[in-house]
Amino acid sequence: ARQGKTPEEVVKKYLQKVRNPPEEDCTICMEKLASPSGYKNAPGQPLVKPDLVGKLTKCGHIYHLHCLVAMYNNGNKDGSLQCPTCKTIYGVKTGTQPPGKMEYHAIPHSLPGHPDCRTIRVIYSIPPGIQGPEHTNPGKPFTARGFPRHCYLPDNEKGRKVLKMLLVAWDRRLIFTVGVSSTTGESDTVIWNEVHHKTEFGSNLTGHGFPDPNYLDNVLAELSAQGITEESIRE
Ligand code: NAD
Ligand code: ZN
Ligand code: ZN
Repeated sequence: ARQGKTPEEVVKKYLQKVRNPPEEDCTICMEKLASPSGYKNAPGQPLVKPDLVGKLTKCGHIYHLHCLVAMYNNGNKDGSLQCPTCKTIYGVKTGTQPPGKMEYHAIPHSLPGHPDCRTIRVIYSIPPGIQGPEHTNPGKPFTARGFPRHCYLPDNEKGRKVLKMLLVAWDRRLIFTVGVSSTTGESDTVIWNEVHHKTEFGSNLTGHGFPDPNYLDNVLAELSAQGITEESIRE
């Protein structure tokens, strides 16, 4: 609980009260907005008035306050909220990446598709550890396979911009998470989160290599979906 704010206080910060709810369903609980929330309180959670309805200030989507608080409580409770309909982010979204190290340097070779510039290599190192309260199985060990993981960006203006944004994503714990690997099926292991990286250097046998003319634009869109934009790297 950041700054000692309760989940209800965090959620209310991003809402305007709606006195006369429209004739629509709340897409979290599927009940009418004009009826009380269909979401049951988890034991031990303070009660939020089930018929209060609020409108998110930036995107305008409307939900039961109770439903948004329940959704917030299901997440990592970092003081941010993401609209479940349009994914607009309120506050600063952070993730559950375990502790580790991110390094980068230039290497004097060019990537397929980028013959006119050198390459940035990013190296992520994460050791195995114990899951925290923000993970699926707190107290249980997690494994970390294939580290250090090496990734590549063209060393041009756009590639350097992506690097700066990846550094922000790393600080916000958004590059990796702990979960089930879709490649190996292993659970309780460190896996890539929703920002794609290129891990193959001179070829593209895995689909995670170059050339890929859309890669930098795709990764910029993925970063933006995590709340990281050009504004995030301005200062
Ligand atoms: P995952 O398989 O759950 O996939 C999560 C995301 O990562 C998906 O979007 C997927 O497209 C992407 N991804 C999958 N393989 C990738 C790769 N080689 N390079 C870049 N992105 C990739 O995630 P995961 O288990 O973290 O990733 C699997 C990859 O991690 C493996 O292909 C391998 O490179 C590495 N790994 C290595 C070992 C090892 O023992 N050496 C073990 C597990 C994973
Ligand atoms: Zn609802
Ligand atoms: Zn929305």
